[in-house]
Amino acid sequence: QDPVLDWLRKELNDEQFAAATAPVDAPVLVMAGPGSGKTRVLTYRMVYLIIKELFRARHLLAVTFTNKAADEMRARVIDLLKSRQGTEVESSHSVPTVGTIHSACSRILHRFGAVMGISSKFNIYSESDAKRLLHRILEENGETMIDPKKIALFAALLSEMKQEQFCAEFGYEPSPSRSPAYDARGITAYMVERAKTLLPVYQSELRRLGALDFDDLILEAGRLLRNHPAIRLELQKQWQYIMVDETQDTSQAQYHVIRLLAERKRETEKYFPLFLVGDPDQSIYGWRGADMHAVRRFRDSLPETRVYLLENNYRSTKAIGDLAQYVIQQDRERIHPEKRMRTQLEGEHPVRLVFCRNSKSEAEFVVKQIRELVARHKLSGRDIAIMYRTNVQSRTLEEACIHAGVPYVLVGGLPFYERREVADMLACLKLLLHEGDTASFERVLSFAVSGIGKRTTAALYEWAKHLNCTPIAALRALSNVDADTPIVSKAIPSVPRSLPVHETPAVDENASNGTRGAAELETTPTLTDEQVAMLGVTSRKRKILLKFLEMYERWKRLLRTPVAEMSRRYYVLPLMIKTIFADTQYEEYVRKQALHGPAVNEETSALRVQERLENVVELARAASTAEELCLKRGAQTAGDVLVTFLHEVALVHGANRDENTPKDAFGCVNLMTLHASKGLEFEAVFIVGMTESLLPHKLCRTRESQIAEERRLAYVGLTRAKRHLTITWYPNGSEWLSRFLLDAPDELVSRHCARDLMKGRLDPIPREEYTLRCKQAHAGSKEPVRIGDIDVLGEVKARSRAAESKRARVQANADSKLAAGVFVRHSKYGKGIV
Ligand code: ATP
Ligand code: MG
Repeated sequence: QDPVLDWLRKELNDEQFAAATAPVDAPVLVMAGPGSGKTRVLTYRMVYLIIKELFRARHLLAVTFTNKAADEMRARVIDLLKSRQGTEVESSHSVPTVGTIHSACSRILHRFGAVMGISSKFNIYSESDAKRLLHRILEENGETMIDPKKIALFAALLSEMKQEQFCAEFGYEPSPSRSPAYDARGITAYMVERAKTLLPVYQSELRRLGALDFDDLILEAGRLLRNHPAIRLELQKQWQYIMVDETQDTSQAQYHVIRLLAERKRETEKYFPLFLVGDPDQSIYGWRGADMHAVRRFRDSLPETRVYLLENNYRSTKAIGDLAQYVIQQDRERIHPEKRMRTQLEGEHPVRLVFCRNSKSEAEFVVKQIRELVARHKLSGRDIAIMYRTNVQSRTLEEACIHAGVPYVLVGGLPFYERREVADMLACLKLLLHEGDTASFERVLSFAVSGIGKRTTAALYEWAKHLNCTPIAALRALSNVDADTPIVSKAIPSVPRSLPVHETPAVDENASNGTRGAAELETTPTLTDEQVAMLGVTSRKRKILLKFLEMYERWKRLLRTPVAEMSRRYYVLPLMIKTIFADTQYEEYVRKQALHGPAVNEETSALRVQERLENVVELARAASTAEELCLKRGAQTAGDVLVTFLHEVALVHGANRDENTPKDAFGCVNLMTLHASKGLEFEAVFIVGMTESLLPHKLCRTRESQIAEERRLAYVGLTRAKRHLTITWYPNGSEWLSRFLLDAPDELVSRHCARDLMKGRLDPIPREEYTLRCKQAHAGSKEPVRIGDIDVLGEVKARSRAAESKRARVQANADSKLAAGVFVRHSKYGKGIV
């Protein structure tokens, strides 16, 4: 007859109710699948503890994974409290602390950091702040040739060393993901030694500046809690009850901070202030130092923990729940293979698995479906999400949205054209058109060559101003008097293999042999010795600048390629991007950059590099599409094409900006990576690129544990959907449908081809026939080879072992294109397989 309990019983099911109202004498762990109401239980528990006056609101701390999740939870708690207690919950005293672990640690340090010499006004240093500081320190310590790459490497080294030190202090095993294979990332033994001496300098400099970097927040809070029992006690008085959402993604250091905050002070004490919710099946941040055993680590260290399991899934329909369950059950390393879920939501839509020819048609298909959902099911864009494995996949989707006039937001990611590597390449292209564009010039100098700092750039600007021309023109003038560095170099560098954009042309030396354009000759002044001396930079820097000019002129020559040559043999813009990429040794630059940041292991850095290189490839692909169009419209030179391309980019770019503020009733469709989708839910979800090499990602297929994490990632994505779930895929080279869904039974997914659906043919295709149909469609996109009456459409790769051996036998004696397993079209008998 307790009204509060009655209310809770109405809001929660029995299992949830039990967990939310569990006694506080032992740690509580709620372990359950997606959509089972873990976050809901945590929220209601907070309200329960407050209303039942077990704790005051201000004595509660809830740790969430993102700031967004924190904001939502705080708002929800306040709402619930208001609805139960009237309006007197406004004061900050009656509101619990809800935030990320970083924000909690920063609060701790704000209040108590003084004992460790940390001022309460400490400044939190962002990544770029920290790098700038490091630059100065390197300079002051006699390091020469300091460039962004070097700084990034040192920053990564220092971060690793800090984590290691922390673990050593506490007697913890260092995280296994942090391997000491420095050499692979360009960190030399010398740098390791150097970093050892730099670390104390860097730390004391941070301290002198009153600043903490991101690592410091967690590590210093950990130290404070560990080394100052009185303060620990004080904090335990302040936060008397600690609650953690998404426990499965807690890192080592974070785990220790939480344990130190929530401990039983005396054996006799009658409460243990810890409430955890999590799902080991959704652990997807292994690459950031968290591991799926975090939940188990808590449980093992606290044997008295009460564990609650929730079995009902409130989020998704049965079709969605069953498929997700099927996918996760293939994981043999699962911690709780018996964990099940019962779906509660009624719904009749099957999960659709849709074949698309390529990423472009995939994007068009998805956007078209979204328009239909909005029209037919009265959904708002806000209820819809498109999810993908890597950020690079967003480009085609963004463009499809823009073309179809569908507003979108990128959740937790930079729009394509703002990504650093894309912006770098674009800066080069812009500079080719506008030599006076100083922002682009600076950007290009920062990565194209090393050893040119702000001072040299400033000197060059000053000098160019004096000569009354652009810095590039000034460099040209300089090169004319500098006999050491002739700028005439015809060689086009070899194109890196990692950029398979278009056929690599053999450049005709004569055709693009650079004679300078008249316009530039006009603006290139002739220098007197005095004027040369006025530049006032060392001859070494002068050489670097002229080396840069040499590259630049090479790019410029490509720009003058006449149209006749372009159309027939190759696309010029992608070639230009390739050349810039090779000349500036961009790949190497990216590799070194990727090492920066806390808790980076080799896999992560490889993935980041991959993603960034793919962004460049993607840019080249966009450029070739633009070029094709321009040629049709009668462009004369590569320069014309470039102008059009850059305009288009600027428009997309601009459109994007506006889209970030939600528009009208349609609402913005959410675009996000699978990682960013954690904890969220949507009426309709599209997961694109369900193709081997994309998901599981090609760099995460070597070890069983990597596959398992990729599988959990797919699981997280699938379980975000409430009623509508569409999974799309397209063949990627020889890569086929993802192993996660390849063999899914027909009861769980309804298989379709995008073209059929667009034409209104809605019947699902049975699994066996599906493979055939997809092969057919895939093969159909190439020119068929003709033998007599028969078009050879493509080779069907046998998947089963039996078929494989049969194929091998036939292949042994058949040189002909008509071996068994080949997909053909006969002029009379139609399509079939030999
Ligand atoms: P995830 O693992 O994805 O974070 P979760 O376990 O945290 O999921 P919630 O987000 O808390 O799940 O809940 C999923 C959805 O189901 C929410 O919309 C929530 O409001 C709803 N829900 C949960 N339990 C109930 C219930 N007993 N009655 C009605 N709705 C519920
Ligand atoms: Mg949740």
